Formats: sequence, C-alpha cells, structure tokens
Amino acid sequence: CGIVGVLGNHEVAPLLVEALKRLEYRGYDSAGIATVNGGKLDRRRAVGKLVNLSDLLVHEPLAGKSGIGHTRWATHGAATVTNAHPHRAGPVAVVHNGIIENFRELRAELAEAGCGFESQTDTETVALLTQMHMARGLTPREAAAATLSRLTGAFALCFLFEGEDDLLIAARKGSPLAIGHGDGEMFVGSDAIALAPMTDAITYLEEGDWAVVTRAGAEIFDSHGRRVNRATTRIQIDA
Ligand code: GLU
Repeated sequence: CGIVGVLGNHEVAPLLVEALKRLEYRGYDSAGIATVNGGKLDRRRAVGKLVNLSDLLVHEPLAGKSGIGHTRWATHGAATVTNAHPHRAGPVAVVHNGIIENFRELRAELAEAGCGFESQTDTETVALLTQMHMARGLTPREAAAATLSRLTGAFALCFLFEGEDDLLIAARKGSPLAIGHGDGEMFVGSDAIALAPMTDAITYLEEGDWAVVTRAGAEIFDSHGRRVNRATTRIQIDA
C-alpha cells in the first residue's frame, strides 16, 4: 500500500522505516524492507504495526545504503510474514502497490517453467518473472522492462537487485509514484509526504512511466520505451 526506495549516503534502514511511518495514514497490515549491502541483498518483514518491524531490526539489523520498503494492505494472500513485501526471487526484490490482474496466467506460466512459489501474492510473480529474464542473460534494467511489458492491472512497483548498490527501477501504472532528488542521493515514494524529511524536489511519474534511478539521477521512459522528461517541482510539506 505504501512504497519507498532510497539510494543514500547513509544507512537506509532507519530512513526507510521513517518514510513508511509517514505512509501509515493509508492503512496496512504488515511491513518490510530490503537493502543491498556490499552487493548482498537481504530483507526483514513483520506482520502488524511498524513497531514490530523496528523491533525486529533491533535484533536483526539490516545494513546498507540502498534499499526499498513497503507497507502492505493485503489483496491476494493473508497478512503473514511470507506474504509481506519485499518479495524476493534470487537476485531480485520488489515492492508493489495495487494488483497484478493477470497474475494467475503468469503464475501458470512460471509453474510451467519450473518455478516454485513461497507466497500467495500476485506480487511474487513479478519477482519470479524478473529473475527468469535475468537467468536468460538480461541485465537488471532489461529484465525489469521485459517484466513490466507483461503486467496488466493498476500498480506501482519498485525493484532492487543483488550486486547493484546504485540502482532502483520504479514503475507507475494506475498507482501514483514520486521520485525524489537529493544531493547525490535519490528517492522513490508513493507520495511526496513519504519523502518530505529527505527531499522536497519531486518528479511525479506519469501513467505508464518507468524509471531507472541511480544516485546520478533518474532516466524516465514512457510506456512505449521512449525517453521522456518530466518536470521536477519543489513540494512544501512539513517534515
Ligand atoms: N496485491 C499486493 C498484495 O496483496 C499488494 C497490496 C498492496 O498494495 O499493499 O500483496
């Protein structure tokens, strides 16, 4: 239900949790974060309030300066740890708002290809499909683009990859998504409110857009894969 992504210059776990707190107003039943640290992708997830995730992070900290986070409002699969986001398949972690309408068809295709599932969510198909594309030799950004071209429904997505400390891929189709510009840092969020403590320079993705985000900035593409420019504006929100 709420998405955040950070390519930072400091430890991101506390920033991710703070941004998720600012998205609490949307409602949620579970939460999680993933980071890349020294190339290694790892995640922590907890059911219930964000304090449960914070408590887990005290006992099992997650280091890293790049990460994604999520508050989930379950649509497919009960509110359990295994169904909580980020969903992971090999080198790919993904957080997702909304619904992948054609997930049954994708699940059948993935099962046919020999993939196993660990959750009941529509989201896991996105991670598995991207992993499959990467296993066939596509780069993370090619694999994400190939996956996005297969998805129908209303959603926002943010991808994080093992071995990639400087890459997020964000996509918007039916659910708003904002990109935040910092000083050598970049952010992704469901709205500008989530990003307010980190930056007020915001680019809203338009319908069908997807973005390749690195610390150097964001390259934005429309649904036809054409490179596009979207305005960056200063949004005044009390941090
Ligand atoms: N459909 C996804 C799920 O049930 C995402 C729900 C959300 O927007 O939080 O896990």
